[in-house]
Amino acid sequence: MLQKVLNYIGGEFREPNCGAYLDVFNPAKGEIYAQAPDSDDSDITDAVEAGQKALPEWSATNLEQRYDYLISISKRITENLQELALAESVDCGKPLWLAQSVDIPRAASNFRYFATAIMQFASESHEMSGKAINYTLRQPLGVVGCISPWNLPLYLFTWKIAPALAAGNTVVAKPSEITPMTAYLLSKLCAEAGLPAGVLNVVHGLGHKTGTAISSHRDIKAISFTGSTKVGADIAGRAAPLFKKLSLEMGGKNPNIIFADCNYEKALETTIRSSFSNQGQICLCGSRIFVERAVFDKFRSDFIDRTRGLKIGNPLEDTTSVGAVVSKQHFDKILSYITLAKTEGGTISCGGNPVQPPGFENGWYIEPAVIEGLSPDCRTNQEEIFGPVVTITPFDKEAEVLSYANQSSYGLSATIWTENLSRAHRLAAKLESGIVWVNTWMLRDLRTPFGGVKNSGVGREGGYEALRFFTEAKNVCIEY
Ligand code: NAD
Repeated sequence: MLQKVLNYIGGEFREPNCGAYLDVFNPAKGEIYAQAPDSDDSDITDAVEAGQKALPEWSATNLEQRYDYLISISKRITENLQELALAESVDCGKPLWLAQSVDIPRAASNFRYFATAIMQFASESHEMSGKAINYTLRQPLGVVGCISPWNLPLYLFTWKIAPALAAGNTVVAKPSEITPMTAYLLSKLCAEAGLPAGVLNVVHGLGHKTGTAISSHRDIKAISFTGSTKVGADIAGRAAPLFKKLSLEMGGKNPNIIFADCNYEKALETTIRSSFSNQGQICLCGSRIFVERAVFDKFRSDFIDRTRGLKIGNPLEDTTSVGAVVSKQHFDKILSYITLAKTEGGTISCGGNPVQPPGFENGWYIEPAVIEGLSPDCRTNQEEIFGPVVTITPFDKEAEVLSYANQSSYGLSATIWTENLSRAHRLAAKLESGIVWVNTWMLRDLRTPFGGVKNSGVGREGGYEALRFFTEAKNVCIEY
């Protein structure tokens, strides 16, 4: 019996208006296990109307009430952590322990963080020496759209919804059609928490249908999107003529720069994580590794040894490091890049083959791959693969590696490994990316601005940046 996901519109769990459903796959087994609504424009129209109806009351709730609702949702996520983590693992193919330790706790933190952030959010006042006072009101935008990807489904879905609701907006949200399950479970938790009808509306469906219905809807005032750069451009093209506010978090091809003076063990161990966590399907993964020549041979050999030691297979087992990639289409895309790397003259130093773990022969598993011998400007080093694939390249000089790192149309994050503080500061300032980690990776403080430059993003999420995005600033000037 297939599980069934429903839309959540105006506080009700509803079939899509057209009655059609999409198949949802369990990537670990390569089989259909659920169905999700194939919603169309009319479902989005219903959701926007529900959001408009709920808006006057929700935008007027006092902050303590909003805090209470968001905290209650956060607590329910934590209370249901095991169920949500299992659902996430089955939906995505990611190791269960990863969903238990990262995805679901972070979803709970997103609601908790923005519940408290809105209580502290203040706006400016500007005095005109004895003449007048200006103060800024930050008011909700109205009904806003949130569109999220499949790689960290609940984590990224809630990263948008929580600040939008905290700021007093009502929301029409669409998770990826590839991983709809935890968004559905979240909508049930919101109903249980007594969130008023229409405040959050979750509509499932295809990007080019349900997604475009959101980006083209006149009454959706802003769109917060996370996903690929190609889709970000499509959304911007539709939304800009309607003057919607846009926050776009898009692809990356992040450099991971390792100097000879680094804390070697920490750099090595973290680079395994930053390369292959979640099968390399994290926008922040460091897929281009640059190693200073003095330690290149040693690092390369140790890194390949550790990569070969990663256990691939059943995502539900605690000892699994690498689960399945999310879909057959993505599996084929990743393997096509392994072929491309070979045609570009690269050497596949380890991995890169499809794997069929016993009992999971139809799942979509790929051995983590390390590729050498490619120039920084080849397609393998320029295009986002978004899988368990990294390239490794030696460098001699700081200026040289800086130019390699910046030689990308993307600019999401970068990692630097060095014990030389001056060098770390110097490079951090010059790297063309929205986020720089020094001697760590993916260490996140939710108060900090999050986002990319160049083709990786427009705008910033996180902290007060998100609350500013989800509000309209209005200046009031009073002459004395
Ligand atoms: P995607 O762009 O294909 O889809 C993302 C979402 O957009 C999905 O919900 C999809 O249904 C929807 N969508 C697709 N076409 C649409 C359209 N024309 N109009 C409106 N919505 C549409 O991305 P994906 O494959 O789900 O996710 C992987 C991508 O996400 C990678 O490029 C990755 O780097 C990026 N990503 C970025 C960040 C970040 O913070 N910058 C975080 C995670 C993932």
